[in-house]
Amino acid sequence: MSNAKNRDVIDEAVKFLRDYYHAEGRDIQSAHAHAAVSHYLGYKSKAALKSDPSFDPTDVDLLNYRETGIEKLVECISRMKPTPLQDVSPSHLGEVIHAGLAPACESCNHKSMDITPLGYEEREPEGWVCRDCATMYEDDYATCRYCGEDYIYRASEINERGECHEHDGESVYDEEEEDDIDSLIEYYQNH
Ligand SMILES: [Zn+2]
Ligand SMILES: [Zn+2]
Repeated sequence: MSNAKNRDVIDEAVKFLRDYYHAEGRDIQSAHAHAAVSHYLGYKSKAALKSDPSFDPTDVDLLNYRETGIEKLVECISRMKPTPLQDVSPSHLGEVIHAGLAPACESCNHKSMDITPLGYEEREPEGWVCRDCATMYEDDYATCRYCGEDYIYRASEINERGECHEHDGESVYDEEEEDDIDSLIEYYQNH
């Protein structure tokens, strides 16, 4: 399908998972991959996921508001007929599914294991970028000194003091505090 909006993120995650493990020499059956992705999203089966009217498989941002987890995944994999999925670490498998469900990086156009939504836990982020691109394109992406390295912003969202909108002015306040402490120390030293 050419229209990005109509892409089914479940199908993309299944393909990503199978390609990922295929590159490691592990061949995962399509049905097992579908079951794993469904369970990661909290469904009992692929059929349960498909028949849930509240689930929109074309929403590329669904990871930002849907509950995900590997608990159900672990259960379902142990019940499968022998599959290489039983030999991989469940937490790593969760990361692979997460990367597959997330959109491709807006910059390099590849799905990535370290894909990150822009902004601070937005339900509908402005975009998704991989860590490599965020590091490489300093003019386009930046982090807030208070939010930390885990959150990536568009460079235009970060002011010259290295703060996001939420933390705008925080460092000025810190400096004032420091000045206050400095003058207090000075006061005591002189008296
Ligand atoms: Zn990238
Ligand atoms: Zn911040």
